[in-house]
Amino acid sequence: MEIALASGMPTYSGGLGVLAGDTLRAAADMRVEMIGVTLLHRRGYFFQSIDETGWQQEKPDAWVVEDFLQELPQRATVTIEGRPVRLRAWRYFIQGPGGFVVPVYLLDTDLPENSAPDRELTHYLYGGDDRYRLCQEVVLGIGGIRMLRALGHDDIVRFHMNEGHASLLTLALLDEQAEKANRKTFSKEDIDEVRELCVFTTHTPVPAGHDQFTLDLVNSVLERPEIGAMPETFCFDGMLNMTHLGLNLAHYINGVAKKHAEVSQNMFRTHVIESITNGIHVGTFASPPIQALFNRYLPGWRADNFVLRGAMKIPKQEIWDAHQEAKRLLIEHVNAETGAGMDLDHLTLGFARRAATYKRADLLFHDLKRLRSIAKNIGPIQVVYAGKAHPRDDAGKAIIRHILQAKKELRYEIKIAYLENYRLELGKLLTAGVDVWLNTPLPPLEASGTSGMKAALNGVPSLSILDGWWIEGHIEGITGWAIADHGSEPASPADESERDAEYLYRKLENLVVPLYYQDREAFVDVMRHAMAINGSFFHTQRMVAEYVLKAYFR
Ligand SMILES: *Cc1c(COP(=O)(O)O)cnc(C)c1O
Repeated sequence: MEIALASGMPTYSGGLGVLAGDTLRAAADMRVEMIGVTLLHRRGYFFQSIDETGWQQEKPDAWVVEDFLQELPQRATVTIEGRPVRLRAWRYFIQGPGGFVVPVYLLDTDLPENSAPDRELTHYLYGGDDRYRLCQEVVLGIGGIRMLRALGHDDIVRFHMNEGHASLLTLALLDEQAEKANRKTFSKEDIDEVRELCVFTTHTPVPAGHDQFTLDLVNSVLERPEIGAMPETFCFDGMLNMTHLGLNLAHYINGVAKKHAEVSQNMFRTHVIESITNGIHVGTFASPPIQALFNRYLPGWRADNFVLRGAMKIPKQEIWDAHQEAKRLLIEHVNAETGAGMDLDHLTLGFARRAATYKRADLLFHDLKRLRSIAKNIGPIQVVYAGKAHPRDDAGKAIIRHILQAKKELRYEIKIAYLENYRLELGKLLTAGVDVWLNTPLPPLEASGTSGMKAALNGVPSLSILDGWWIEGHIEGITGWAIADHGSEPASPADESERDAEYLYRKLENLVVPLYYQDREAFVDVMRHAMAINGSFFHTQRMVAEYVLKAYFR
């Protein structure tokens, strides 16, 4: 449903879209023949600003489609509520360092022959009600297959559903099978054939995060009696369930980190859930000073990211200097945007991701007295935040407001900035420019997390709860630090936050802040290990290679 392709194209909301883009960028690096399909989102996700009371405001984020994309002449049609809805595709080319090109098609219903409401179906990412969402998934899944065929892509050997949003593509593929056999109904063989063609990746460790639609709604939008007639394939609990549809019609299913696969396996016991841990695209997320460093010491790093293991050979002083340059770029931006007056020589923590409640962005402010005393007695701390809450997520918006309240209360002791409108360029600037990347999700809800991988690549260690990818990437005191006690289970989420905050303060107090100010050599050691051990592994070139071997061609 979302792909982050370029700065200035607001066609994504967060990690899911960045991952989709990074996957295709790695495919272009490695000459893996792939095609991306998504929706155009002509009005963008939304433009975020924060008002003087600390409350998030949203505005449409319209962009000039023609500046980025090429319109294609082919058209496809889907039927919605009995009406034909025409689709157009816009093409974006992702080019790898060796010149190999991966095309992405962005589907658009904004054509004069469609009715006014139908023309808006591809305007808003995650906007509207269930009906709007289902219509979008019809356009993406069914329309996506039909557009690929209209564009002449008849020889696709695998379809990868990235989350349940695209699961209706299975219905279009079943139609093709039945049509080939001159049948009107689907046979068991059709289902087996389609399953061979499909791969499904789940990203959400909670049942509430999975799209489902009542059969009344499905019948009014789609008029496809097969869905109700084959509940074992399409439905769960009497509803069309996009995750279960993906699970039922894929020959390979995976979660996005080892822990997430385990959690998903417990949620979906009748399917085998394997794991392929996420990555990030190194060429995209290495900051300019770090790129220059890699160019000097690690030739070929862009085309082959495994070369980054050689970062252990880079002199520590050079890593420090490149990092300080990346930090200067960030601090200048923060000071220009917010007037925070941040200092290049102060320990800077970073936290940026969607402002969803489970990410607990405000955990650092659980006990202001405690935080103040760390900054006062051990060494100055400053914190840079960014992140959007979904427009209907008031609890997420309340977290942003809480951070801004803490900023006010701490204004004489700790400099805090909240950068508005988090996006790709800010993600790059932030993950490379802070000194320590903070992550405080409520386990096991962080399926993977990827921003800590971007930080590691740039020599920025994580201080994080042991969840998602960090369970695999964490080596205590070597690649970063865990916020953990390795002790008893907490009684409730509130107790858990109480306990996690305590361990966060202890790690800052006893390890991270003293190391930064009193043993710079040892701190840079951690930076270099983060780069060499995690930067060389948690990238999408490794991830795509795993998908090719384990999922696509098994
Ligand atoms: C990397 C990135 C994300 C995802 O970060 P997580 O740590 O996986 O939550 C979201 N938004 C932007 C703009 C990013 O660059």
